[in-house]
Amino acid sequence: MSWKDDARKRQKEKAGGNQLKLAEGENSVRLMPDKKDILKGGKMQSDEDKQHSPYREFNLHYGVGATKEKPNGYTVACGLDMAGDGECWLCQEKIPELKKLPKKAATAERIKRKEAVLMQASLYDGDAETFSNPKPWNVSAGGPKSLASRLANKLLNSKRNLLDPTKGHNINITRTGDGMNTRYPDVDVDESPTPLPIEILKKVVDLDTLVPEYDAEDQKAVYFGRKRKNEDEDEDEDDEDEGGDEETGEEEEESGEDSEEETEDSEEETGEEEEESSEDSEESEEESSEEETEGEEESSEAEDEEESGEEETEDEEEPEPAPKKKSAKAKPGSKEKTGKPAPAPAKPPVKKKKK
Ligand SMILES: [Zn+2]
Repeated sequence: MSWKDDARKRQKEKAGGNQLKLAEGENSVRLMPDKKDILKGGKMQSDEDKQHSPYREFNLHYGVGATKEKPNGYTVACGLDMAGDGECWLCQEKIPELKKLPKKAATAERIKRKEAVLMQASLYDGDAETFSNPKPWNVSAGGPKSLASRLANKLLNSKRNLLDPTKGHNINITRTGDGMNTRYPDVDVDESPTPLPIEILKKVVDLDTLVPEYDAEDQKAVYFGRKRKNEDEDEDEDDEDEGGDEETGEEEEESGEDSEEETEDSEEETGEEEEESSEDSEESEEESSEEETEGEEESSEAEDEEESGEEETEDEEEPEPAPKKKSAKAKPGSKEKTGKPAPAPAKPPVKKKKK
């Protein structure tokens, strides 16, 4: 591609989209503190004992409801927390069922829950000495060598402050490759602190509003290829994290599925990859084409099921009182977001973009 294409892509990565994406090469990233720790006037809660976690860990199901048109399926929230507690239709009913069917074993494996980590960060432009607006960042998770795990280690063990607006340090992250080949060979805390402008700090949003909520009916709708209640929400925001194996190259861990990271670059260019990543979608507005297809067609799985004539269909009809449970995974301090339509990560990007 021409230098302009490349430059546009980078610009888009910096400014466009609702999700933060690391560009290939070096990135200077500033992690944002939890919104609850940003006091009036843009000051940071200085009492560390009162501070909240700057990231959220939860589980997602990727690749659900895959069809020919949407080979990578959709991402939906899992009802189980990181300890495996809670209720989740996919984890506790459907996947165990699929595992018993030889033909469905691969599907069961593909859609099993995976860890996801959501942070909020700003990209620092060292030449201009400016920070981009903070954005939600689905950090590749899964396994001790995942980027999410490495960043968590920095947050927990670095002697340097990574969150304070005045004495905080940026983190320099090098990204190479795409998709399954994405790697983060270097993740280092910058040697010098970089003051973060209050205006940037003030744009931090409540991460709890972005953690997808578990909804059994929504899981079923996606699985069976039915229309989802909130079309907006449909999946896709970021698949990036999915397998989260990219970092280390150990694809073995769970990754297998999809190359999330691909999406990073690809989305903007090709649009096809996105589908895979469907989850990144927020950005999709621009590429909305994907969305169109989503949802309504029957998912292949659905079809399969029907063939086999099993329970699934029944499920549909069953008046299961699957009230939506919130994905309790949000961390401790999180507030409840009842009633709020599931936010970002797991849903599709559809029309929410605000400019
Ligand atoms: Zn689950």
